[in-house]
Amino acid sequence: MQTQLNKGYNITENGYYGDFGGAYIPELLYKNLKELTDNYLKITEDEDFKKQLNLLLHDYVGRPTPLYFAKNLSKKYNAKIYLKREDLNHTGSHKINNALGQALLAKKLGKQKIIAETGAGQHGVATATACALLGLDCTIFMGEVDIERQAPNVSRIKMLGAKIIPACSGTKTLKDATNEAIRYWINNTDSYYIIGSVVGPHPYPDLVTRFQSIISKEIKKQLYELEGKENPDYILACIGGGSNAAGAFCDFIGNSKVKLIGIEAEGKGKHTQHTASTLQVGSVGIIHGSKTFLMQNDDGQITEPYSISAGLDYPGIGPLHAYLNETELASYLSATDEEALKAAFELMKLEGIIPALESAHAFAALNKIKFKPEEIVIINLSGRGDKDLDTYLKYYN
Ligand SMILES: *Cc1c(COP(=O)(O)O)cnc(C)c1O
Repeated sequence: MQTQLNKGYNITENGYYGDFGGAYIPELLYKNLKELTDNYLKITEDEDFKKQLNLLLHDYVGRPTPLYFAKNLSKKYNAKIYLKREDLNHTGSHKINNALGQALLAKKLGKQKIIAETGAGQHGVATATACALLGLDCTIFMGEVDIERQAPNVSRIKMLGAKIIPACSGTKTLKDATNEAIRYWINNTDSYYIIGSVVGPHPYPDLVTRFQSIISKEIKKQLYELEGKENPDYILACIGGGSNAAGAFCDFIGNSKVKLIGIEAEGKGKHTQHTASTLQVGSVGIIHGSKTFLMQNDDGQITEPYSISAGLDYPGIGPLHAYLNETELASYLSATDEEALKAAFELMKLEGIIPALESAHAFAALNKIKFKPEEIVIINLSGRGDKDLDTYLKYYN
């Protein structure tokens, strides 16, 4: 039996996109995950739930976010470039769309304790925010190294009333925080785990895609109002785990009029050891409960990713993207640290917008594609750059 996500593509009942996805989990988590799998559609498709979430998205998050015609950028690249302003959401990125949705879902499931992992701290902040709002107990797992390099977000999480547990194993970054969160979940099955991207075991990739699909729904409506048509020629989005891209692509998947392009973080170059271009250098394996592309050595050990942006250095990619890549329903490029920085400084100068370093990778793709002047290009501006000021200052000249 197939559960229909939208007319563009199907996910099987067991959570597979083609060969990718599934739920490869320890037996101890089976009951928790089954509870979620059995109930997530029932709850999230309920009219009352939708009404509550939509009201919060509107009044609290500030949706719909604008679809902004970037006149100066358009002139420079000789195409009609629009920016989907997810940076204007409360807490500064698209992460809140999912965190709020899952926190509300947890509440409906009768869970009072929330856990989450975070790398750059954006998902941690969004989750702590949603928990404060809904009166839920919140614990955030974060690598020791990330706690040090993302100090402002650590302070935010604490002020919002959440507890931070440092992950001290491995390289003390995102994948170690995820491992710790999963370990804690096994021992505390009364808690609900809010995963921050379209990764992890089924049903998370589908659940997170659904919460983020509001981005493409709004794009359709807004573009129709602005241009008299629903379909742009291109949609560009950066890829960490792939949730902002999944949200921006979702309602256009399988639509041959629209080219969907994801941009991974190439770090110092895909031929170096310092990269996070999972689809370019990775191979198929299992990471955090999902069968997908990941970066691994010859022994199947997960290798450490690198990117200048902490939000993109994840060694895997959501199974939906592995599938879209394989079937060529979307295509994937990568941008180096240097290209992303250059694109960010250009956006600041031309449009007066300071993007998140993650989002800057999507803008770097403007140099890699040849557009026609009448073509409409949408860039998903996933977040704002306040958190990246120190890095920008280091390279600004
Ligand atoms: C976390 C984050 C990303 C990367 O995560 P995805 O799941 O790939 O979207 C991108 N941009 C911003 C601003 C982020 O905070």
